[in-house]
Amino acid sequence: MYIQLNKKITVIIAVFSLLISSCANVKTVTFKTPVDTRTKKIATQVKKTYALNTMQIFASNQFYGAHLNGFEKVNDSTVKVIVAPENTPINNSAYYSFKAWSKETRTVYFQFSYPEGYQHRYPPKLKVAGTNNWTVLSEDNIFRDGKSTTAKILLSKRPIYISAQEIVSSTDTYNWVESLIKGKEAYVHYKDAGSSRLGKKLPVLDIYIGDKKQKPIVVLLTRQHPPEVTGFFAYQEFLKTILNESNLSTSFLKKYRVLAFPILNPDGVDLGHWRHNAGGVDTNRDWSEYQQPEIRQVVKFITSASKRDQGKIVLGLDFHSTYNDVFYTNKIRKETALPTFIEEWFRALEMNIPNYKVNEKAANSTKPVSKGWFLYGHKAVGITYEIGDKTPRDKIKLVGKVTSEEMMKILIKQ
Ligand SMILES: [Zn+2]
Repeated sequence: MYIQLNKKITVIIAVFSLLISSCANVKTVTFKTPVDTRTKKIATQVKKTYALNTMQIFASNQFYGAHLNGFEKVNDSTVKVIVAPENTPINNSAYYSFKAWSKETRTVYFQFSYPEGYQHRYPPKLKVAGTNNWTVLSEDNIFRDGKSTTAKILLSKRPIYISAQEIVSSTDTYNWVESLIKGKEAYVHYKDAGSSRLGKKLPVLDIYIGDKKQKPIVVLLTRQHPPEVTGFFAYQEFLKTILNESNLSTSFLKKYRVLAFPILNPDGVDLGHWRHNAGGVDTNRDWSEYQQPEIRQVVKFITSASKRDQGKIVLGLDFHSTYNDVFYTNKIRKETALPTFIEEWFRALEMNIPNYKVNEKAANSTKPVSKGWFLYGHKAVGITYEIGDKTPRDKIKLVGKVTSEEMMKILIKQ
């Protein structure tokens, strides 16, 4: 009897210490302005094909990344595209995405309709089904009348994607990652940091040449916010440049370790969300107590790698999109692992990108964003790397490449 009880206590203690240690290795970070990131309800779209039979016009949201909540006839040449966010309050990232077709080739006016308080933001990007080429609908075909926006688009039998931004689903991302690292398996380790609320993979590329022990760590994040694909395009070039096996990248990866997370919110991406994950939360406000599974597992992966291999996290870049290109930085520099990095990097960018002026907005994070987590949690330099919604796509490639090269050059000299 006594022995049994003793055993029970031992088991209880073992369970408790397990709990404590699993909490202990994910240290929370306190911010001045906390944000409630507990899971909230989201509205899910009805996935279907809308048929406007009298017009012989059709629209569908039955694909990853689609967002269409209703499709109605207004008059013989105009249809209403009804779009509502996953929940509110939410930023005005009024994302829509659907494919449309008609029985006869004809011009159709698409009138965008959002809930009160939200406005049209993104000019339509078009892609004929079965092709890979996105184009932006020209301004001549976009009509703004007070609060409402109408787009004139030619429809035919062949479906055309009409989307706020280019569609890059989780599948597209996983496929891109696999093609990117093909033949580089000796130094790019494709790992799983866990899975999203809906069970989608949270991949991470663990990149280093030689021994990973004690190598300083650079963390690359992106796609916390689903429609922000221009930031992802820069991320792709940035990472591609690190993996291009030049002398620069080879010396860099002998000295540093890169943890690259190519998609932090796969559920939100595939659900066509404006901003949130499947838990109805802005994951870039969850870098304090990690209430959402995506951030909790990514944080755990980063901090465990750093601890286990005694590698200090020195820099974290989080790629996003907004109205213009901008780098959001922290003002605190002296106490960080790389006190002069930001100034040196921005100077180098202006010297190496033709006609380029860095747009920096410096302020210490008060809300729980990744930029603040790098600073307050790790004394690392944290930067939110934003690309404009409308920045020309070839310019993004150049900026992505040069920002990567100049980062490597500066870090090698440390
Ligand atoms: Zn963002």
